Amino acid sequence: MTTPPTSGCTDTPVLRERGQREVFCGLTGIIWLHRKMQDAFFLVVGSRTCAHLLQSAAGVMIFAEPRFGTAILEEKDLAGMADANAELDREVARLLERRPDIRQLFLVGSCPSEVIKLDLSRAAERLSEIHAPRVRVLNYSGSGIETTFTEGEDACLAAMVPALPKTEARELLMVGALPDVVEDQALALLDQIGVGPVRCLPAKRAELDAAIGPNTRYALTQPFLGDTHAALQRRGAQRIAAPFPFGAEGTTLWLKAVAAEFGIGPDTVDAVVAAPRARAEKAIAAAAATLQGKRVFFMPDSQLEIPLARFLTRECGMQAIEISTPFLHAELHRPELELIAKGPTISEGQDVDLQLDRVRATRPDLTICGLGLANPLEAEGLATKWAIELVFTPVHFYEQAGDLAALFARPLRRREILRASHPNRMEAAE
Ligand code: SF4
Repeated sequence: MTTPPTSGCTDTPVLRERGQREVFCGLTGIIWLHRKMQDAFFLVVGSRTCAHLLQSAAGVMIFAEPRFGTAILEEKDLAGMADANAELDREVARLLERRPDIRQLFLVGSCPSEVIKLDLSRAAERLSEIHAPRVRVLNYSGSGIETTFTEGEDACLAAMVPALPKTEARELLMVGALPDVVEDQALALLDQIGVGPVRCLPAKRAELDAAIGPNTRYALTQPFLGDTHAALQRRGAQRIAAPFPFGAEGTTLWLKAVAAEFGIGPDTVDAVVAAPRARAEKAIAAAAATLQGKRVFFMPDSQLEIPLARFLTRECGMQAIEISTPFLHAELHRPELELIAKGPTISEGQDVDLQLDRVRATRPDLTICGLGLANPLEAEGLATKWAIELVFTPVHFYEQAGDLAALFARPLRRREILRASHPNRMEAAE
């Protein structure tokens, strides 16, 4: 395992830009959250645009009845000519009567509901009183105004925290919606190391919800959970500071930080993780052969940029030109920035035209960006990776580390194949 740079990027001046941005809204998170929370329903209070976004993001995978939907605000609602609250109450009553499996209902705000100032927190309180104890109704905003797509999960989890029961028990809370297979791997490792009891936020079902208190210790698995972190602190829980569990190194450091908090030494962790870590390192090495020495540019999108830049530079041999994130949460990202060697520009926010100028000037081998920017950059001969794939693909912990590296290697390999088969066309684009 590589040793940390002596100072890292923690004191690198941050380039802050505020201008036009290219991002998806927080409604996107519903796609992975509804798979995770098996008795939850996400009711977007929004427009036909919101409904279309959800339908196209969810694709064709709906075989059973979906656990998300849109209560469409019509023109008469937007013009204040109808009582949107009364319509919402009727819609919710119809839904809950038809779907007795629902135990948690999230009213999800959108741009239109915010524009007409529909108070969804009052609506959630009112509906909770009507439908308790069978159904808990909460609300959060997925609005696209000044947000990025991973903020939806943060807002959802932050909304859940105040409603969780209280406890004095000393427990670990693993925070972040991981695919079930990844969550099970993490729980098995923690169990072998001797850390427990362990709860998850979000839990698979409401009856498995964690309780929170001053003896709760929590470890984030996703770097975009700043509001959830703040909500947990307000409940007296304490965060375990660690790099995020991406790659063999990140996973090992995350596990060691958690183990240390529970009085377990690094040697125990090393012994337990020897085999999966060796598998991860071998799998990463296979993809790193393609990534070694290549230059990468992160545009701000998923909020995973800083941990992934750490992974790519330290475990895959890449060189980062610019690491840009929508929001830089200094406290949560400090353990990551300490590990990234000085050199790259660290930037927060976006002025998309200025940033595209920097991409064109530096011509990176790989640019990580949103869907809207990928095609134009590809047309200019630049290889890209869609940031949104990083949240739809299992990428955490040891068994997924090789897949994570392969996600970045794939566009470079595709380019090599195209260059070999169509040398003239690729030269013209480049
Ligand atoms: S919440 Fe706003 S940005 Fe998102 S789909 Fe609805 S209207 Fe569009």
